[in-house]
Amino acid sequence: MFALRLATRAKHFAQSLPSAATIKLIHIQNVLHKNKTDDLLNVDIRGESLQFPYVWLRENCQCEQCYHTTAKSRILDWSKFDVNVKPKDVSNHQNYLQVTWDDGHTSQYNLNWLKLRGFTPEHQKYYTDTIYKPKKITWHGDEFHKIFSKHDYNEILNSDEALYNWLHQFSVYGVALIQNTPDSETSVDAIVNKIGFTKRTHYGVKFVVRNVPNTSNVAYLSSNLQLHTDLPYYEYCPGTNLLHCLVQTKSLGGENLLSDCHYTARYMEKHHPEQYKLLTDTEIEWRDVGVEDGNEFFKLYREPVIRLDRHGEITRINFSIPQRGSQFPGPIETVKPWYEAHRNFLALNHKFAARFKTKAGDILCFDNIRLLHGRNAYEDSENNVRQLIGAYVDWDEIYSRLRCLKVKLKNEDGIC
Ligand SMILES: [Zn+2]
Repeated sequence: MFALRLATRAKHFAQSLPSAATIKLIHIQNVLHKNKTDDLLNVDIRGESLQFPYVWLRENCQCEQCYHTTAKSRILDWSKFDVNVKPKDVSNHQNYLQVTWDDGHTSQYNLNWLKLRGFTPEHQKYYTDTIYKPKKITWHGDEFHKIFSKHDYNEILNSDEALYNWLHQFSVYGVALIQNTPDSETSVDAIVNKIGFTKRTHYGVKFVVRNVPNTSNVAYLSSNLQLHTDLPYYEYCPGTNLLHCLVQTKSLGGENLLSDCHYTARYMEKHHPEQYKLLTDTEIEWRDVGVEDGNEFFKLYREPVIRLDRHGEITRINFSIPQRGSQFPGPIETVKPWYEAHRNFLALNHKFAARFKTKAGDILCFDNIRLLHGRNAYEDSENNVRQLIGAYVDWDEIYSRLRCLKVKLKNEDGIC
């Protein structure tokens, strides 16, 4: 009885105190309130009023003492930096803003440069979707013929516009095709060189896909290849896969299946929210063990099927039935519900998948951390042996090339 009363009193006491979340919110509001009144500069940029924090402006001074022009890097000495810096004098010019600070230092800011770094949600979204990474557009297999862009091998090699268009379409939809590729095992190298370099894995700098009995990888079999992502057992998983078709099978089958998991995941979030939560929360152990070219490997990596960032945006999909380990790192009661969610995710990806059969000279490019890909069974014959050459390229290199090309081609002020 006594213990019960104590527990009840303790409960009342706890209820009368603000929760940790409330305290945090009050604290943030105080900080924001103070910032709003004291530390922001209003700048009129061609009729648009934007606010910039003093501390941010001072730290991002573009003068030679604060910013190294060729290294494009901040060199301002932070040991002497004052976060409470205030402007003494501000003047607006046609193309730039000039601020003289209370320590006597003078800064100038190009207005286009400033505008691109505006702090409103609209300005920040614009920068994110155009400079940071082109905004992705999800698709259903029925729309594949509309979103599947085709590009010419030689045009990509000889024109920056063609290179930009290919990489832009590829990043938006996660899939694109290069046609008219010369019939050589090294043809894909020239395309990779236009971007940067490949991601080497334990399957090599490049890899050959053809039917190999007693193989180190199920992709090297001619039987049905279930929908999957490549190498989910890598913490630094290759972002894209470029598959050059040298010889396509003349038999039935050999078709690729491609499914946009961002579409499937959003569908699951809406229609099967509990299963979506299981796929985003439950860590799975991905695994690859074997020998390739005499080198032993034993790769393990843990991550859910759908990895989200703190905004709830999908950053990576991991999915491979052969390369999911038997070790299940989660609680025992989640096992069966997780399998049900897994079954549904696979079934939906099949339902939403596009089907496409490449031909010799095609390079099928797809986002390996967004799409699932698979292949129907096929049969080789004596004079027709299906053969593909594959190369992995990371999104870091593709986004980097896209931004460099944007600066070069679009001639926009203030990007970098
Ligand atoms: Zn400066």
